[in-house]
Amino acid sequence: MTDHHKPHGAELLKEAQEHMPLGVADSYRYWGQEDTVFVKSVKGCTLTDCDGQEFVDFRLAYGPIILGYRDRRVDEAVIKCITESGTISGFSSELDAQVISLVKSLCPHIEKMRFANSGTEAVIGAVRTARGFTGKNKVVIVEGGFHGLYDEMMWKSDVDNWNPQTQAAPEVIPFGAGIPEASREHIEIVPLNSFEAIDEVFERVGDDIAAIVIEPIMGNCGSISSTKEYMQKLRDVCDQFGALLIMDEVKTGFRVAKGGVAELYGINSDLTTYAKAIGNGYPVAAFGGRADVMNQIRFDKTGVTHGGTYTANLIGLTAAKATLTILKETDALETVNRVGGEIRELLSRVFTKFGIEHRFSGPDAMFGIHFGNEVPQNYRDWKKTDSALYVRFAHNLIKNGVMLEPDSREPWFICEAHKDIDLEWLEKVAVQSMEDAIN
Ligand code: PLP
Repeated sequence: MTDHHKPHGAELLKEAQEHMPLGVADSYRYWGQEDTVFVKSVKGCTLTDCDGQEFVDFRLAYGPIILGYRDRRVDEAVIKCITESGTISGFSSELDAQVISLVKSLCPHIEKMRFANSGTEAVIGAVRTARGFTGKNKVVIVEGGFHGLYDEMMWKSDVDNWNPQTQAAPEVIPFGAGIPEASREHIEIVPLNSFEAIDEVFERVGDDIAAIVIEPIMGNCGSISSTKEYMQKLRDVCDQFGALLIMDEVKTGFRVAKGGVAELYGINSDLTTYAKAIGNGYPVAAFGGRADVMNQIRFDKTGVTHGGTYTANLIGLTAAKATLTILKETDALETVNRVGGEIRELLSRVFTKFGIEHRFSGPDAMFGIHFGNEVPQNYRDWKKTDSALYVRFAHNLIKNGVMLEPDSREPWFICEAHKDIDLEWLEKVAVQSMEDAIN
């Protein structure tokens, strides 16, 4: 960011701090008094800040943008919907089934679905449905995963403050204050790709496990990925104990492949959550899967309750219909993956030029970068990478007009609009940013 930028953004932040805690609407947007970003507009794969500085954006609002910001095809459909049909009615519309049919055509393991407005809500719905169906309580989650800001899912392994030399597991802590101790009771946390840990949990409390909730490609931990064998192990252990496998595809769905992670791995979940790319930036989400499980949502004493005022609102569903139609009928995702592959190669050349050991994880549409000589297999391995070098490199990229999260746990997100970026420019900027990071 230019020096000129800083005072203006900092002024806006100060003003906002009169009205909001930290001066931001989502605490993760607070990057300090000097560097918190205020955005004026977005278009394609670019973002323009409050001072008119333009960035090529690989953060993409934490992943929803799969086509590009302000995609005309999606926006025109939404504008038409608002002006001709409305936004909500508190009743059903033909869009409900139309969007679900599209999802089913891309993700054949989805038999029935319900909508939500955010990834958090989709996870809440899926977990409640799993508990209702199984009559069990416990939920197994994975270290480094993220499933939204609701109490139960706001327990984590404190890998940040963990010593990799020790054999002991990291401490389990809440994200912060206000998370009741009682919400910890039914949560079990395991490291990714450890057969031993999953066996231990199921041996100990398997009879009361309602579900495993997992991001098979951890969009919140540098796209560190489960092995196919591990996913198969989870599938098998769930079947053996009558637990459900919930894939949280909030970041991967309609991004890593048309059918998401399920397609890449060839392993079906019982329930899946979707959000983000399903609506190319409009607030819409969903959860669904096996018909017998989803049919637990019904009106009787043993039924699961689900709904909400804005659920299946016309804006979100129109955006989803337009986005999914484009993803289904065009080669947008092939483009995303091709461009992602090119960017990855380019970055690899830059790191090699400086003799920096590096590994990538995850698919080209959302890849993680790890400075070290092994591909991390889980969050504990990530702790062994040189994440401090990444932070310096990322801050330099931002100064030079490339936006990303300065944290190697957040992957690089690619959208279709990245196909038009100047790769030579990007390589030069990456070289400069790394040179400054190591000197
Ligand atoms: N699940 C995953 C895997 C996510 O990455 C996120 C958000 O980043 C969520 C759930 C929560 O989604 P939202 O922020 O839309 O509530």
